[in-house]
Parts: sequence; C-alpha cells; structure tokens
Amino acid sequence: MSETIFDKIINREIPADILYEDDEVMAFSDVNPQAPVHFLVIPKQRIPTVNDLQPEHAPLVGKMVLVARQVARDKGIAEDGYRLIMNCNRHGGQTIYHLHLHVLGGRPLHEGLLPG
Ligand code: AMP
Repeated sequence: MSETIFDKIINREIPADILYEDDEVMAFSDVNPQAPVHFLVIPKQRIPTVNDLQPEHAPLVGKMVLVARQVARDKGIAEDGYRLIMNCNRHGGQTIYHLHLHVLGGRPLHEGLLPG
C-alpha cells in the first residue's frame, strides 16, 4: 500500500480545490474534469481499491456517498442529477490506487455507462 498523490493532497503537500473535509473523508475537484462538475470523494485512510474493502469499512463507504450527495447539492447539480463511479483495477480504468468516488454532473450523461 504505497503512498499516492492523494496522500499528498490530504497532507497539503500539493494543492487541490478542496470542497469538503472531515476526520475521515475529503472531497476535491478532479484536475482533469470529464464534465462541468467533476469531483472526487476519498477516504483519508489508504485503501487501494474496492477489492480491499472489508465489512468494517461499510460506514466509511456510506459516508463517502453522503458526502458526494452533500457536495453535489452545494454545487447545484443535485436536482438535475449526477453520476457516481468507482473504478477498480486495470479493467475498471483505475489509475490512482487510493479508493475514490467520482462524482460527475452539470450536463446530461446519457451516452451510456461511461462518462464520455
Ligand atoms: P481513476 O482513473 O479512477 O483512478 O481516477 C483518477 C482521477 O484522479 C482522474 O480523474 C484524474 O484526473 C484525477 N487526478 C489525478 N491527479 C489529481 C490531482 N492532483 N488532483 C485532482 N485530481 C487528480
């Protein structure tokens, strides 16, 4: 479980547009947005992939979804809607091995399951 760029964001070693933070969870804008609103929700705890989740992580993952909902509301995209995505490993398109929930919105995402 080596450090990733997200640890550097958590530790303020590199800048990010932080949208939410508490003891367990952080949300910040994606640096390469795929939609008008695109942010990530991460646990501060280093969990590499969905495959590494344990039953005791269930409240943490639930909190990530609730933070996604809150920041989506704050961003004004809740009523129109948005998409939550978690990529896992190579076939899932995961590039950063620190669990993260993508939140995309601000335009229709009708093209199918992929953000496009
Ligand atoms: P994934 O492909 O699911 O692992 O997604 C990783 C995401 O992290 C991509 O959407 C990147 O644009 C995003 N990303 C990479 N570096 C940064 C950074 N320094 N700040 C914000 N987002 C980043």
